[in-house]
Amino acid sequence: MQEPSDWRRQGQESYLKGVTLVRQPYCQYAKNPDWDHDHCEFCNAKFMATKEHGVLHSGYSTEDQYRWICGACFEDFREEFEWKIASLKAPIEDV
Ligand SMILES: [Zn+2]
Repeated sequence: MQEPSDWRRQGQESYLKGVTLVRQPYCQYAKNPDWDHDHCEFCNAKFMATKEHGVLHSGYSTEDQYRWICGACFEDFREEFEWKIASLKAPIEDV
C-alpha cells in the first residue's frame, strides 16, 4: 500500500479503479497512428514501440490500449486499485 501523499497520485482512481489490464508489449494506439508514444499513468515513464534507449517497451494497458502503466507502478498500486489481469493469449470467455 502506497502513501496517500505519494507524488504519483493524480486522481487515477476515478478512471483506473477496478479496470482490467493487459500485460503486453507497447504498441501504438490503433485509433491514432500519429501518436507514437505514451506515458505511464502514474510516474510518467515513457513507452515507445521503437527500440529507443531509456524508454519502456512493455507494460500494462487498459483493454483498449488507451492508458498504460509501467511494471513498477503496477506493483505499487495493484492492491489498492484492485486491477484484474487479462491474458493476451487466452481471452476471457463467457461460461
Ligand atoms: Zn509508472
